[in-house]
Amino acid sequence: GHGGSDGDDYLFKIVLIGDSAVGKSNLLSRYSRNEFHLNSRATIGVEFQTQSMVIEGKEVKAQIWDTAGQERFRAVTSAYYRGAVGAMIVYDISQKQTFENVERWLEELRVYSDFSLVTMLVGNKSDLESLRQVSIEEATDLAEREGLFFIETSALDSTNVAAAFETVIKEIFGMVS
Ligand code: GDP
Ligand code: MG
Repeated sequence: GHGGSDGDDYLFKIVLIGDSAVGKSNLLSRYSRNEFHLNSRATIGVEFQTQSMVIEGKEVKAQIWDTAGQERFRAVTSAYYRGAVGAMIVYDISQKQTFENVERWLEELRVYSDFSLVTMLVGNKSDLESLRQVSIEEATDLAEREGLFFIETSALDSTNVAAAFETVIKEIFGMVS
């Protein structure tokens, strides 16, 4: 047999949000396929990627949703958020405006989600240290104020990418198991 654990499996929907060009699609491609694209404009947005991990002997699947670029027009719809139990709000540490817009993404999350999600604030492009416009301190302050987890990542050099996703998945698991 296969252990008969099918009934114990978990499936969590996690949404990636944040301004256009902050690196959402590359974070997902780095995590799910270990790929990075210098110019990802042309990539066709897949709806979601499913990644599995085992936590405490249980198979946990994360269905991670990426936008197909509609955030450019602030047109992410309620369907995108429906059923999500986790969210990653991504900004670019080298573009202050993308950090300033985090509050707007938080409001949108609150409008569209029925219950409080496990939410991670993600400062991406940590490899661009010389161009940094958002300090770790101000991001930590925002995260504390809003009750978010916080991490800095680089989809380019892989720093903390798996840690970001796995922290969200483990926190959700801890809440529901
Ligand atoms: P999205 O619009 O949020 O999905 O952003 P993309 O993943 O399409 O990335 C936008 C641009 O930023 C692309 O040119 C990527 O190559 C670049 N990019 C994404 N992540 C990083 C990163 O961690 N570091 C650097 N330096 N560039 C990145
Ligand atoms: Mg994208």
